[in-house]
Amino acid sequence: MGIASNRIGRRAALHVSALAALVAFTPSRPARADDAGAVSTFPLCLHRATLDDGAPVVSDDWIAAQLALANELFAPFGVAFAAVNASPPDVLAPALGRVETRDDRDRLAPLEQPGCINVFLVAALRDVDEADRYRMGVHWRLRANSARRYVIVSRIAAKGVLAHELGHYFGNGHSSVRNNVMSYLHDEGHAATFDAAQGARIRAEAKVVARELASPRR
Ligand SMILES: [Zn+2]
Repeated sequence: MGIASNRIGRRAALHVSALAALVAFTPSRPARADDAGAVSTFPLCLHRATLDDGAPVVSDDWIAAQLALANELFAPFGVAFAAVNASPPDVLAPALGRVETRDDRDRLAPLEQPGCINVFLVAALRDVDEADRYRMGVHWRLRANSARRYVIVSRIAAKGVLAHELGHYFGNGHSSVRNNVMSYLHDEGHAATFDAAQGARIRAEAKVVARELASPRR
């Protein structure tokens, strides 16, 4: 906890960037999942890594496209996401953005911000089982405490990867149905969707996630 507390202390203020202009951020009330028919807005704390030359691994436009698609796909189930830039560009250093091992994934945990879904945007994300494979994203649970979890998305990600990983965050496993958000099989130019069962799971899980984000430390 020592390292985590110090780092969070030094970065006490959340830096709301231009890309966060999409929706206002209310840290004290992360979501409203209980109002029937209401939209629950979950803040996404974005931690963007930098490349060796100091440039961010992905652009604001790249993030906006991932976020817009996630919002479109979750909207039918009463869930929305609002981006907050949790890390100034110099915080997630190049070394942290090269995620090669399970240890590397765990090493992002001290940067987690409370009260939001943490999303790390990285330069590379190697598969931990097949070493010659790079992944586009992962929903990761800290090995020392599986109640702590976050999303890691690589700069090589296709546009629907943030939505897919958030699909995991909201309780869904993989689907074998082509062009489902939770499938690996997508036809070029074909819109992905969640099915009704997945949507019901998202609605139910939204309450769980809201409670999780409301608890100060897990
Ligand atoms: Zn997946």
